[in-house]
Amino acid sequence: MTVLLRIQNLTVEYKTRRGTARGVDNVSLELEENRTLGLAGESGCGKSTLGRSIMKLVPYPGQIVSGRIEMLLHDHVKYLKGVIERGIVNIIDLNEDQMRGLRGKEIAYIFQDPMTSLNPMITIETHFKEIMKAHYPDIEEEEIIGRAYEILDGLGILPERITDYPHQFSGGMRQRVMIGLGLALRPKLLIADEPTTSLDVIVEAQILEEVAELKDVFNLTMILITHNLGVLAQTADDIAIMYAGRVMELSSTESLFDDPLHPYAKALLESVPDVTHPEKKLSWIPGAPPDLTDPIPGCMYNPRCPHAMDICRTVQPDLITVDGGRLVACHLFGGEKSHGTS
Ligand code: SF4
Repeated sequence: MTVLLRIQNLTVEYKTRRGTARGVDNVSLELEENRTLGLAGESGCGKSTLGRSIMKLVPYPGQIVSGRIEMLLHDHVKYLKGVIERGIVNIIDLNEDQMRGLRGKEIAYIFQDPMTSLNPMITIETHFKEIMKAHYPDIEEEEIIGRAYEILDGLGILPERITDYPHQFSGGMRQRVMIGLGLALRPKLLIADEPTTSLDVIVEAQILEEVAELKDVFNLTMILITHNLGVLAQTADDIAIMYAGRVMELSSTESLFDDPLHPYAKALLESVPDVTHPEKKLSWIPGAPPDLTDPIPGCMYNPRCPHAMDICRTVQPDLITVDGGRLVACHLFGGEKSHGTS
């Protein structure tokens, strides 16, 4: 399989009045074409910061301070002449003009709240036209409408509703429109940041099913950011569990659900209700995530970990490769250090 995205030793910091917080701390991971990677973890674990870094859209006062984000581009991309080498570009090196060319066309980002991303003053048709004309000024209107119809239909929206305004749609429909706009330019990589959080479970399930179908139609590679492990169980090929800005475990979805390795991954899974065993008591994770402006020595999870040992309080565990190619950052496991640790 071809690697589409390779992140190496990425660190993102937020300079705040209380000090510097590492939102993403030395993260490395790879994403192969046509696969879906889920990013999961509690609020503030760095999953959205990581996703936004790929678009170079880390909100102020966040800043990418080191690392590489390499993306493979198959097409000849004129505006990247001089910064593209053998089809690979380091996103960190790109200026704002070059990023504008990349956003939407190569990488699309779906944000959580469609009402803050959709313009209430213009119709869905105009949204499609604006996005597509920004990248292809000479594109025929007929082609835009044809493409929009195909996408809306795939997402369960009557194509005739293209002339409606955002407020005329329900929350679920608006989220579908956002996903559709994200797909308008046929990007290679789609990053969906909590795309179904505000929706009820039935609409959520429908949308996820539609997205999975469109993913195959459009040959998409996806990063799905969510705190909902149930959503990832249905959609992701692999899952990275993040904590305090670091990747704690990266496993295939099946392996993670069958046998989570990292104590934090295990605790997260044990806190998910199991409908097949309603008698099972839900557990919770004691304590709270650490204050990132005041990092603790050793493993950041140690104050909450029931397996913490002396070494955990002094030495930060590297992300290592264990049996079956799974990655885990925990002193309970021995293995080979992953290239580019996290
Ligand atoms: Fe727990 Fe130690 Fe593993 Fe951290 S390194 S998760 S504290 S056992």
